[in-house]
Order: sequence, then C-alpha cells, then structure tokens
Amino acid sequence: MDKDGVGGRTMRAAGFFGLRDVRLVDVPHPGPPAPGEVLVRVAAVGICGSDHHYYNEGAIGGAIVDEGMIMGHEFSGWIAEIGSGVERLRVGQLVAVEPAISCGTCEFCRKGHPNICPNVLFCGSPNHVGAMADYIRIPAENCFPLPEDMTPAEGAMLEPLGVAIHSVDLAHLKVGETVAVLGAGPIGLFTAAVARLAGAGTVYMTEPVAYRRDFALEYAADAVFDPSAEDASAEDVVDAILQATAGRGVDVAFEAAGASETPDQAARVTTPGGRVIVVGIPNDNTMTMTASVVRRKGLTIKVVRRMKHTYPRAIELVHSGAVDVARLVTHVFPLDTISRAFEVVNGYNDGVLRAVIQVSE
Ligand SMILES: [Zn+2]
Ligand SMILES: [Zn+2]
Repeated sequence: MDKDGVGGRTMRAAGFFGLRDVRLVDVPHPGPPAPGEVLVRVAAVGICGSDHHYYNEGAIGGAIVDEGMIMGHEFSGWIAEIGSGVERLRVGQLVAVEPAISCGTCEFCRKGHPNICPNVLFCGSPNHVGAMADYIRIPAENCFPLPEDMTPAEGAMLEPLGVAIHSVDLAHLKVGETVAVLGAGPIGLFTAAVARLAGAGTVYMTEPVAYRRDFALEYAADAVFDPSAEDASAEDVVDAILQATAGRGVDVAFEAAGASETPDQAARVTTPGGRVIVVGIPNDNTMTMTASVVRRKGLTIKVVRRMKHTYPRAIELVHSGAVDVARLVTHVFPLDTISRAFEVVNGYNDGVLRAVIQVSE
C-alpha cells in the first residue's frame, strides 16, 4: 500500500490480513495526486467474487504488510484533487473507476488488449492498493464521469457489468441464438441480461441457491435449473438443457459459476460448432472438460480475462435503463461494518446478490 502519507495524515481502510480476517484499520493518507493522476474520495465499493476468493483461501501470493492489504476494485467516487496535466476531469465529479492500471506500452496493450497486460497493476490485489478506503490515487484515464442521475452504487456495478459485456463480446452472439449461463451470481445475471440485449433467443440458467434461481427467472432467464436438486445428479442440468433444446444444445454457453463441474457442463450443453465462454474463477485453480465432447463437437472455447474498453458502453446501458444494475445491490454496509459485510457475503446469507460498501456520501 502507499506509504507516502503526508504530514502523518491517516484515513480509514478495510485491511485484509489473511484467512477470513478483514477489518477496519488506519493507514497513511495517499497524499496529493502525481502528474496525470487524481485523488478520489471513494463513494461505493462492491464486494466481488474475487474478494471472496482472498477471504476464503487467503491465497494472495505477495506479502501482506502490517496494515493489511486494502481490498476493493469495483468502485466509484468523487474527484477530490487533480494532478498536473489532467484536463478532462473536475473536482467534485462522480466517476466510476476502471481498476486495472495497464502499462500502455507493452505488445498486448499496443494491440488493444490492456486486459492481458503482464505489467498491470490491479486495485485491491497484492500488487496495488484497493478502494475500500476513504481515498485512493488513480490515473485520470481510469476515471469515467457518470451522468448526473446515476448513483455511486450504480457506478460501482459498472465493473462486473463490464466483465459481462466483454464476455458477450467474446461470444460473437448472433440474433436469435440460444444461450446457457451456468451460475446466477452477479456476473452470471449481468451476462444473461447483456446476452438478451445482444439478441439472444432463449436464455437458460443453472444455479444451486434457491433465491438466486428466483431472481434469475425474473431478471433475465427463461428457465433456471437446479444442479443440486436432491433427486437429481449433477448431470441432470445438462439433460434438462438438452431436453429443452430438443437435444440440440445451445449456441453459446457461459460458465459463470467457478465450480469444478461447470466447465464440463458448459461443454456438454453446447451444440456442435458452438462456443463456450469461461468467465468464472475455479475454486481449485483447475478447469476440466471432457476431451471427446469438446473435440467431437468442434467447440470454440474462450476464457475471459477481466474486460477491456467497456466502461462507456456500461454507462450507456445503465443510464438508458437497458440494464438494471441497482436491482442486484441487495445490501449496503458502511465501511466501519466491513467485517460483518464479509460474513454476510460469505454465507450467502439474507438473500445477498451484491453487497456494496458505502465509504462516504
Ligand atoms: Zn470484481
Ligand atoms: Zn501493457
């Protein structure tokens, strides 16, 4: 985390110290913005599935400094100070922030793929300070001003919505094609909603948690199947989708669950010549698909790495009302209840879809 606190000023932050240990701490204030940067007073931060991985697996690679790693990458805030050379932004503006700071000069950045930049710094990861704090310094180019009538929580949701947009981009969906989305967490739900906007015909989803199945049915899915049904084996969601498509399978399957069995299910429910898009992060760092299935059907398999160039479109979708992101924000916690917030999210308690940390108003 930033060590150049100025004049001994401190601020509040959510520190991650290890397995299931997230708490409020005082850390040095990040200080004034460098040239090309802005200082953002953080407004709202979503708790993401990847934050969940840190919380439950403690596996973050890099060293944890004494004050803990500051978490949070889905966020919005108000511009508090502007560094030299920044023309485009003004103090007081509400912005959504792209959390990936790519280098801009490597081969992949220059080819237009900043999402796979090997030099990337990512907010709320072991290599860069996160946004669950009063302030964060960030390059001005990562900030996207929000229209007047968008809220801080909606701004924070543009990050997961961006992942969904990128996933549907990768699928090259054609109007009327059938889709399956495995997993009805926020990423799966947004992916289903964006796939609909992109012209999907019938959208099938699978989800083991009952309240999420109900939500999915209202939000974006035509049918939702339960992979954990007591009278069924895990294979039955595959049968259900194949039956629903008269044995043909769907044109595109999105894996958005991160479970060990879902990549293979995605392959099995896809029609010959179809596409499988893997969005989820597997719990055990392994992905399995049956070779004969993907080979005989000649499937195209793509893996999603975050997103690229999606913020302007995400803002447009929310502002125009095409995607309702606010509906997924089921819980709002003030920053000083951060430990409780993680417990609720972790237990899938209380009908949680996305919990947002409100840092300031
Ligand atoms: Zn996220
Ligand atoms: Zn790069």
